[in-house]
Amino acid sequence: MYIEILGSAAGGGFPQWNCNCRNCQAVRAGIFSGKPRTQTQVAVSNDRRSCFLLNASPDLRMQIESSSLLHPREGLRDSPIAGVLLTSGDIDQIAGLLSLRELQPFRIYCTPSIRRILQEDNSVFAMLNRMPGQVLWTEIQPSNNFSLLNAEGSGSGICASVFSLESRYPAYISQQRAVQLRDEDALLGVMLQASSRKLAYLPAVPAIDDVLLQRLEASDVVLFDGTFWTDDELIKVQGSGATAREMGHVPVSGPEGALRKLASLRHPRKVFIHINNTNPMLDESGSEYLEVRSTGWEIAEEGDRYLLSFPAEVNPMLRTKLT
Ligand SMILES: [Zn+2]
Repeated sequence: MYIEILGSAAGGGFPQWNCNCRNCQAVRAGIFSGKPRTQTQVAVSNDRRSCFLLNASPDLRMQIESSSLLHPREGLRDSPIAGVLLTSGDIDQIAGLLSLRELQPFRIYCTPSIRRILQEDNSVFAMLNRMPGQVLWTEIQPSNNFSLLNAEGSGSGICASVFSLESRYPAYISQQRAVQLRDEDALLGVMLQASSRKLAYLPAVPAIDDVLLQRLEASDVVLFDGTFWTDDELIKVQGSGATAREMGHVPVSGPEGALRKLASLRHPRKVFIHINNTNPMLDESGSEYLEVRSTGWEIAEEGDRYLLSFPAEVNPMLRTKLT
């Protein structure tokens, strides 16, 4: 399985259009020790012919252009993108679907509740179904396994399993609407498997428990929520607001943070993704960056690629980032 990082920032990107925090200021001044980032987007493929998007970021159009993997190949209208797997209804995870409205057939894999939000509550997404067969909606159930299908409907070789992480819906979903939706559909974690190799994709993790740790230990690469360094990060920067946990993100640092909680994992390559522009670990000259790197973690950035293949012993690519 081939994995490509097309974007690695949290919602708003880095820098964020209206943000004047230390990081965003330094990027604009050209003095930041680190890289600007587009909003989180990952693409995967088993054969580099059929490709699948993990969510659809608001920056998707330019992210597709940035990767030859995703360019049209034959004929006037074509795309290797066979499907999009949605982990939540967050605007940062769905807005890019509107960039895929040019009558190109593909599948959307999402829970029944996310499908209802998109199809019943937001008529703008009707642009994805202007003609029969344009977008095939495939409902997925938390705890089920399913195959990601090529455009013609055959298996791509990638098997997905999803599991529920939280019952809260995004802020644009009203209380009245939320009670009509299933708790277990709100936010998913994703495991993708091809040839016995596994990718765990979790850009938003509200809590870490033993079951999750077992899942992660069984993975080869873990792309994990790196949104905030501390629980009170936004409050410190803005003077008010919600904590990381209130926003559904375990912070990176601290006694209950991801660094400490996932320290026991031995097998997977651990990579932070979905990093907010305020997060000090983006600054590669800072102590937070050094702490993350010294504990074996990586911080995702655009253009990072991973190849998971079998058998691992004869493929040195397995634990080597392609650059
Ligand atoms: Zn900022």
